[in-house]
Amino acid sequence: MENNKSINVNTREVSCSGDSYSKHPHVYLKIAKDKKEVVCPYCSRSFYYIANQQNIKK
Ligand SMILES: [Zn+2]
Repeated sequence: MENNKSINVNTREVSCSGDSYSKHPHVYLKIAKDKKEVVCPYCSRSFYYIANQQNIKK
């Protein structure tokens, strides 16, 4: 089972409901200001905070 995916997000509040894990509730995770990542306790998925590149103007 591969459940250690890492996902890049550009917001510090993420939600996770897993893919096909029947016992995975819909949870909200928050990335602390001094951290770059949060790991979902249910599916061990990692969320990496990245700057919102779409808002960067040339
Ligand atoms: Zn999860």
